[in-house]
Amino acid sequence: MRKNGREIIHLALCNVLSVARLANVFSGCHKGPRPSMFKRLRGYFSSDLSIDLGTANTLIYMRDKGIVLNEPSVVAVQDEPTRGGKIIVAVGVEAKGMLGRTPGHINAVRPMKDGVIADFTYTEKMLQYFINKVHGNRFLKPSPRVLVCVPFGSTQVERRAIRESAEGAGARNVAIVSEPMAAAVGAGLPVQEARGSMVLDVGGGTSEVAVISLNGIVYANSARIGGDRFDEAIMNYVRRNYGILIGEATAERIKIEIGSAYPGQQVRELSVKGRNLSEGVPRSFTLNSNEILEALQEPLQGIVSAVKQALEQTPPELGADVAERGIVLTGGGALLRDMDKLLMEETGLPVVVADDPLTCVARGGGRILELMDQMGPGHFGLE
Ligand code: ADP
Ligand code: MG
Repeated sequence: MRKNGREIIHLALCNVLSVARLANVFSGCHKGPRPSMFKRLRGYFSSDLSIDLGTANTLIYMRDKGIVLNEPSVVAVQDEPTRGGKIIVAVGVEAKGMLGRTPGHINAVRPMKDGVIADFTYTEKMLQYFINKVHGNRFLKPSPRVLVCVPFGSTQVERRAIRESAEGAGARNVAIVSEPMAAAVGAGLPVQEARGSMVLDVGGGTSEVAVISLNGIVYANSARIGGDRFDEAIMNYVRRNYGILIGEATAERIKIEIGSAYPGQQVRELSVKGRNLSEGVPRSFTLNSNEILEALQEPLQGIVSAVKQALEQTPPELGADVAERGIVLTGGGALLRDMDKLLMEETGLPVVVADDPLTCVARGGGRILELMDQMGPGHFGLE
């Protein structure tokens, strides 16, 4: 109940503030055909940032420097009744280490879980912490221009809250771009051409599929299925078939080590520990890759149907381009063994995994920042 109350207050604040602030977004680009000399110089010296605000991981790409931050999107919160409620005790890597291992008064939360901002306040604090971490608060440093890549399914209200947070963290102006657009640019797809390119990004909370042509999204959809659902499916499988309880971190490790999306020739095994439900004590047991493949069937089929639906909804000319050039996979889920093979079998189209799929969105955002200088802000569906 308390969370709802806080969200409502925060939302009300966002609404009041954003009317004034939205008018200033990209004011440098809108005022005239060319930004003033001062603005151009300021832009040149400041370190523009592209932020991939993912449901599982947040990455920050800095112009000329590459990826400067890559941490889990997790905050650890402690009850502090004497100081008015809750305080944040850890963010990122440190907080993820606490997931499932906290004492009663500390809670490790993932504020972006499921692809929506489950908690505005914590998302804001996390974003500010990460921006300050890479940019610092140094007095003489000009404030950065920031591009935030958000899940395609996020609402206007959520996007506005993210914009406010980045501004609150000292950003000069803030642009918002949909994740699949940034992913496609980061994967090196020829998005500027009048040809259809299809990208599928499988993240922690969501899978997003999009068809892009002429720097714009022609079709996109987002399913709330991703790496987290794979982990959950593994936990459920183990509980059902072995009567053993395992944690999320163990399920993720099983997925990464022996998980696959398509039957392979080699059967791999892994020994893991969990709590036996009837005896209540920790037990070791062995799982093999065929069992995990079986456990993952339901979420995998969900992703396959999202892709098939996208193919059905794509205008025929663009669909023909996709059929010729195939689908490019990005996001951590693209690393699940034989994910490409599964989609190839199911769609009959060529499928490739992008280089370094976990960093595609952040790198693509960085490239969009550069292109924005050359082409103006009217592309890539920027807001
Ligand atoms: P998001 O953009 O939502 O933050 P990411 O693209 O960072 O998500 O992907 C995170 C997901 O990818 C997690 O669920 C993680 O378990 C999964 N993942 C990372 N590496 C692998 C791997 N080698 N095999 C399977 N899944 C992986
Ligand atoms: Mg992502």
